[in-house]
Amino acid sequence: MSERSFTISGLAASVAGTQILSGVDLEVRPGEVHAVMGPNGAGKSTLSHVVMGKPGYEATAGSVTVDGVDVLSLPTWQRAQTGLFLAMQYPTEVPGVSLDDMLSNSFDAAGRSTEGLSEALSTEADRLAFGREFLERPLNVDMSGGERKRNETLQLTVLKPKYAILDELDSGLDIDALRVVSRRVEVATNEDQLGVLVITHYNRLLSELKPDRVHVLAGGRIAASGGPELALELEESGYADYAEPDAA
Ligand code: ADP
Ligand code: MG
Repeated sequence: MSERSFTISGLAASVAGTQILSGVDLEVRPGEVHAVMGPNGAGKSTLSHVVMGKPGYEATAGSVTVDGVDVLSLPTWQRAQTGLFLAMQYPTEVPGVSLDDMLSNSFDAAGRSTEGLSEALSTEADRLAFGREFLERPLNVDMSGGERKRNETLQLTVLKPKYAILDELDSGLDIDALRVVSRRVEVATNEDQLGVLVITHYNRLLSELKPDRVHVLAGGRIAASGGPELALELEESGYADYAEPDAA
């Protein structure tokens, strides 16, 4: 009955006993791109971790729903099965497990057929200008920052989640790689109706992956929202207008 959306409402969260988020509201519908910007340490990555259920990041109030399903009570793997995907700011090395293995297991766990998976991986690797040799290498081990980000994007395009959180996908990518990766995600928003929450500091990512809405996370909540022009304004003026009154 509920309309399809990835909805965060009144989300408060603490990390190591410190409250970081104090009431975040966001709603992403299929095919939409929402950008979250904000100063370092504002809690952007914390938001992504709380949503996915990373240990140590505790939601203390509010809710997160995916097409009407409350995910905060679910273990991380079940959150993923509702259709949520996180491209991490700092992708983890997983020695001994290749991308191929990891994705086959994900498909199996979700009861999806792995037929055609290898072909899909090769096709998508080519589209992202990501060497096929990486498909067999242990996940993220000895990969450069840019290679890790392409790797995350490759997982996204093959898994085809309903909603993706991209945490600083631009960090480590050079201009050309950034264009390729952000264009590929933009295509997914159009062709597969992927809904995206993209965390970034830079407008250049948003020139290819076009946001419907831009939000500023500051002081533990969404301090401002606007259209794509807000990202340009922020690049000019910084976040001084959103500084907490008691901050130095
Ligand atoms: P952003 O991604 O916006 O730069 P983060 O979400 O990474 O900010 O961090 C927000 C705040 O939470 C920071 O003060 C950071 O030091 C703190 N924090 C994040 N993760 C942890 C952790 N695992 N343990 C302790 N403090 C953390
Ligand atoms: Mg961060």
